[in-house]
Order: sequence, then structure tokens, then C-alpha cells
Amino acid sequence: MSTDGTGVVIAESATPLPEGVHLPIYMDNHATTPLDPRVLQAMMPYLTGIFGNAASRNHAFGWEAEKAVEKAREQVAKLIGASAKEVIFTSGATESNNLALKGIAEMYRERGNHIITQVTEHKAVLDTCKKLEKQGYRVTYLPVQADGLIDIEDLKRAIDDKTILVSIMYANNEIGVIQPIREIGALCHEKGVLFHTDAVQAVGKIPVDVQKDNIDVLSLSGHKIYGPKGVGALYVRRRNPRVQISEQINGGGHERGMRSGTLNVPGIVGLGAACEIAMNEMESEAKREIELRDYLKAKLENALDYVHVNGNMDHHLPGNLNMSFVYVEGESLLMGINDIAVSSGSACTSATLEPSYVLKALGLGDDVAHSSIRFGLGRFNNKAEVDYVSDKIIDVVQKLRELSPLYEMVKEGIDLSKIEWAAH
Ligand SMILES: *Cc1c(COP(=O)(O)O)cnc(C)c1O
Repeated sequence: MSTDGTGVVIAESATPLPEGVHLPIYMDNHATTPLDPRVLQAMMPYLTGIFGNAASRNHAFGWEAEKAVEKAREQVAKLIGASAKEVIFTSGATESNNLALKGIAEMYRERGNHIITQVTEHKAVLDTCKKLEKQGYRVTYLPVQADGLIDIEDLKRAIDDKTILVSIMYANNEIGVIQPIREIGALCHEKGVLFHTDAVQAVGKIPVDVQKDNIDVLSLSGHKIYGPKGVGALYVRRRNPRVQISEQINGGGHERGMRSGTLNVPGIVGLGAACEIAMNEMESEAKREIELRDYLKAKLENALDYVHVNGNMDHHLPGNLNMSFVYVEGESLLMGINDIAVSSGSACTSATLEPSYVLKALGLGDDVAHSSIRFGLGRFNNKAEVDYVSDKIIDVVQKLRELSPLYEMVKEGIDLSKIEWAAH
């Protein structure tokens, strides 16, 4: 034992860590990503000397800030195939989703009151829909299939003459599945319905193009793409069709009246820089992450039985792997790997540990959902970390299963089909 200088006792590990491994290991890049040092560098001048208000029209401080904001607008637009005028800066994707759904619902109320979304959306979409339901809107929540994808036929059937908006996420933040966005967009355009997508997990990771993908409104966030927290954007199509959004925050008419408030200049500069880096490096980085992800998956599958992957792996984000370790108690598993930052198939809602609603929507039982782990690989993960993480998980899962009576019964060939554990 030794102390870290502040009196905190640190246990010394028995064996030195391999090169490239520093504990704790961060492998939760769908929750947030670290700031890329190049992004910080781009932001620094705007956190110090260049502090002007981008709305100050009559002096150089304002002009300089505005110039930086407009450059960032171009950088964001370019990454998604939009034009700069179609990009509205917000405080993040939660706000973007709220603005898109509430802003369209309010603006197009005369035309209809029906909105279509699906069950594995982020809470920023689902909770907004719940709120709109209370205000008299009708919302259809499409189911997903066992692989996490929606069935386009379900969507076709759900659209009626009162439908004003379809909101389907580009890629899921838990299971990494990529929805058939281009087909959904084409269907919406054919039916004259607006199409919004929460593309937080997709933008910067896989090619996203609002033209080719037939997207009318799109949400993105800075801190999921190695940019700063507290900044995001909403793409709003200006032609074919021209989308109108009713503003949700009043006060000064910034962002073409759609989102008032003094602009977060350093944040916006950071978001722009993050988009430019993603644009340049996406292809090689996706390839690298897929290799790491498949290596992790193969190692776990080769060493352990009764593990399965959640979500369609053919339509999948490069850095995502969601796996269930059946016959292992979720909380014990997480406690056993407490030097690794990953997400579990449980969500803390108030005091109780609820199984993930996304995994439940795929048909997983509560116990299997709790035994699931989401690995979120990112730009700063390396192979040595993947080795450490996989070895550790294999070790902990094997030890926990030695203590599991259910696992013993399965090993002995006892039919567990009537026991909930075996439901999946
Ligand atoms: C993180 C996330 C959000 C919320 O974004 P914030 O910028 O943190 O508000 C919305 N949707 C998805 C899919 C996300 O992963």
C-alpha cells in the first residue's frame, strides 16, 4: 500500500500494468467522450482574449466572435452535407430534440396532431413526446424487432393523414444499431411528412448526409464527438421542403429567431473543430474501432459460454458492443470490474435499479438485461486496454458463475426453460 500524496491509500497491483493501460480505463464513449486536445486548443483563445459577444454588431470584439461562430457553422454543416444557414446552435442534443419536436408540433398544429417515433429512442425524445401527448398530440411508438431495428412496414402503416412528423434516431446509444434512415426519409418525403432524426451517436462516426438520407431536421451534440459539453446543434432544412420551427426560447431573436440567447462562442468553436476532425478521420477511425470491437467480441465469445450480443451487428456503430453475460448477476459483475468504466443494462431511476428499456424492447428478460454490458470504444482506446478489459471480464464472469447455482444446473444439463433466467 502507498498513498497518493493527498492521504488516499492506493493498493499496488501485483503485476505492473501493460504499456498503454492506465486505470481506470474509460470505455463508455456513448455516454460522453473526452475532449480532443486539438479541440481544446481551438477553443482556448475564445475562453481568454477573444471574449466578445457574437451579437455585438458595432465593434471588433463582437465581429471576431461572430466570425468564429460562422466558421464553426460551416464546419458542422459540412460534416452532415448541409449548408451553414441550416445549422442552429443549441445547448446540446436534449435541447435540439426538444426544439425539433415541440417546435414542429406547434408550427404544424393546423395540419395535424400525429407524431410517430419508436420505443428505443433516447429519453430526450421519449419524454418530449410524453409531454406533447399531454398537450393533445397523438404519438405512435413503433416497436423494434429482436435485433433493434424498426420494421419499415410498421412505419408505412402508422402514417395517416394527420401525421406531421416522424422522429427516428439514426443510431442507438445502448445497442449501437443503425436504423434504415435513408428508406425512412424517402418514405416520409413520399408521404409529405417531416422527418427528424436524433443523430447524436451517428454524426462523426459514420457518414451522415442530410441530402442523401432525406433528413429534414437533425440533432447532434458536441460531447459525443470529442467536443465540449453543453453545446449542440439542430439542422433545419431550408428547401424541399422548407421546414419551419416554432421557437421554444424567446429573447433577442438569435439563430434566425429559432433559439434566443447569447451564443456559447468557445463551445461552438469547439463543436466546429470536433466536426472538422471527425470529417477528416472518420474513415480510418471507424476501421480501427471495428477491429478493436470485433477483437473484443471474439475474445469474450471464445472464452465464455452463454454470452450473446445485443443488436444487429450488420447495421452497427463501429465502437459499440453490447453483450449479455447470462447467469451472472449484473451488479456483482460491475463491482468486479470497478477499474473499468462501461455501462450496464440497468438504469438508476430514483432509488431502484431498473433494467434498460432498450434491452427490454428487444425481448430480453430482466435478469439478462441486468447482466448486460455496453462497451463504448472511442478515439483514445487502444488494443492493450481491450486486452485488459476482456481478460478482466472473462475472469470475473467465470468466478461469479462458479458461485451461481443456476449456471451449475445448466452445466449439468437440467432444463431451465421454465426459469426466467433462461428466457432469452
Ligand atoms: C447523449 C445523447 C443525447 C443527449 O445529448 P446531450 O447533448 O447530452 O443533451 C440525445 N440522444 C442520444 C442518442 C444521445 O446519445
